[in-house]
Amino acid sequence: MNAYQPRTEDMQFLLSRVLNAPAQLQALPAFAEVDADLMQQVLEEAGKFVGEVIAPLNRDGDEIGAQWADGAVTMPPGFKGAYQAFWQAGWPALASSPENGGQGLPTVLEAMLYEMLSAANIGWTMAPGLLHGAYECIKHHASDELKAQYLEKVATGEWLATMCLTEPHAGSDLGLARTKAVPLPDGNYAVSGTKIFISGGEHDLTDNIVHLVLARLPDAPPGPKGLSLFLVPKFYPDGSRSRVHCDRIEEKMGLHGSPTCVMRFDEAICQIVGEPSKGLNAMFVMMNAARLHVALQGIGLLDAAWQKADAYAQERRQMRAPGKGKSAAEADYIAEHPAMRRILDTQRAWVDAGRVLAYRTALELDLIKHSADAATQATAQRWCALVTPVMKSVFTHQAFHGGSDCLQVFGGHGYVREWGIEQIVRDARVTMIYEGTNEIQAIDLLVRKVLTDGGTGMNALLDTIAADLPKSAKTHTPAMARIQTLRAITQQIVQAAPKEAALAYRVADDYLRAVALVLMDWAWLRIEAGVDAGTPNADARWLVPAKALRSWVLPEFQMRSFIIVQQCVAA
Ligand SMILES: Cc1cc2nc3c(=O)[nH]c(=O)nc-3n(C[C@H](O)[C@H](O)[C@H](O)COP(=O)(O)OP(=O)(O)OC[C@H]3O[C@@H](n4cnc5c(N)ncnc54)[C@H](O)[C@@H]3O)c2cc1C
Repeated sequence: MNAYQPRTEDMQFLLSRVLNAPAQLQALPAFAEVDADLMQQVLEEAGKFVGEVIAPLNRDGDEIGAQWADGAVTMPPGFKGAYQAFWQAGWPALASSPENGGQGLPTVLEAMLYEMLSAANIGWTMAPGLLHGAYECIKHHASDELKAQYLEKVATGEWLATMCLTEPHAGSDLGLARTKAVPLPDGNYAVSGTKIFISGGEHDLTDNIVHLVLARLPDAPPGPKGLSLFLVPKFYPDGSRSRVHCDRIEEKMGLHGSPTCVMRFDEAICQIVGEPSKGLNAMFVMMNAARLHVALQGIGLLDAAWQKADAYAQERRQMRAPGKGKSAAEADYIAEHPAMRRILDTQRAWVDAGRVLAYRTALELDLIKHSADAATQATAQRWCALVTPVMKSVFTHQAFHGGSDCLQVFGGHGYVREWGIEQIVRDARVTMIYEGTNEIQAIDLLVRKVLTDGGTGMNALLDTIAADLPKSAKTHTPAMARIQTLRAITQQIVQAAPKEAALAYRVADDYLRAVALVLMDWAWLRIEAGVDAGTPNADARWLVPAKALRSWVLPEFQMRSFIIVQQCVAA
């Protein structure tokens, strides 16, 4: 079984030729020194680290997994050493501010790093995956005292962090959370309650763990508006242990390298982060960062599945492929059979569209942070708000379903453990569930974001997309026609939604997928525009997947718009 190996030259092509990222970033004073050479160097070093240190641990992570005994969790062999090497080399701090111990590099490099890490070993990657969100949350909402104690440790990854939201009866609906926080005379709080499914709630990777916990104050109103956020460390600054216990870890379908913990808070002394009853606001900073990361998990896992399937299809021979003559004595490679070609080229189309969208979103995050121009910031905010739930949903969906198609390329050999493709399918399944299920992402997009402004923001996003199409695609093209249809169906839902309360919720997923297809079309038109005579292997590497997108992926747009129109008419 071959471990995943990052192919950074493809990523570099998308970053530089397609998104023109180095020039865009250098226009921001914060990144004046970050040129194309530096970005390439960081990417290559990251690829080397991921390929040499993280990927080889993937199999043990799955087969041995994290182990719980008496409240302590031992991570799979090699995980701790790899994490120590990771943080000491400064990888977690890539995009954190230099004043907090970070390297101050662009977010897009961090996004590319996490895509590769997820592809190589998602179980291991879950541990540092929440760090950047925790860093932003503490930086923007915690008191100066908390920042002095925790910000740099989290920014650099010396300590890992968790996000403690879910409770046994409160999953998608966090407003049902019952964990209590009682104010103490000294200004601290005591938190009591049980949180479940907490990724990395306990482990031996770092000396300390910083838990960010949603809980309710005694006089707080019911529902999500009554939740406050608290920081509970495993160890306090004086070295004493807090009353936070890991009662067990879950047995699960995949992701065995990541301990999914039941955490008991037993009057654990802690401090509040941000204002009372404004916990969800503070937590959203972390959740948004985490949603982009989960989209990158989907993209990475699908790329890893494709890599395995592509390699296998080029070695295994079965039957004659059509048009190859009739001699039964010879057999052709699986890769030459049209049904298998279709699977492989289609997944490539998804992965590279995902990369363009995720990298562009990361660039927009840097514009939000570092641009001095209010209009640029507003456009970037809109992009991130609308595109993030779309990416989280469709690329995690595709990681599982497209990963399963890649397993099909192996026939029966994919269903047995030897080739490692079944692990990818098992690991990918949860990405559709956590960080807000994909149903919740669709509702977030349509009900909370598109309908609340009557479709104005979505139309503005479509203006941005239309203006950014290559010249050849700007008039009377299928891409422009799909953009117009999406504008029309947005208006149709806006008008029909008030007639029937359930309508928008019923078509939310169709709508999200229609938006995704328009975005993917844009992404591939930009990729094709970036290909020129000097692009190595341009035909097979870029133009064949572009064709697959048009043949096998984009036709779904008609089906989704048909469903939406039917439902609106019937409302
Ligand atoms: C491996 C793993 C790691 C996790 N890590 C963390 C973590 O680190 N921190 C943390 O706090 N949580 C974590 N979670 C929890 C995860 O975020 C929740 O499982 C998820 O939010 C869904 O909640 P639930 O499981 O209670 O499902 P429910 O909310 O009960 O949902 C059940 C089904 O109903 C659907 N549904 C619910 N409400 C609606 C609605 N309004 N409209 C349409 N459909 C709806 C859901 O989409 C889902 O399909 C993790 C979970 C797993 C499995």
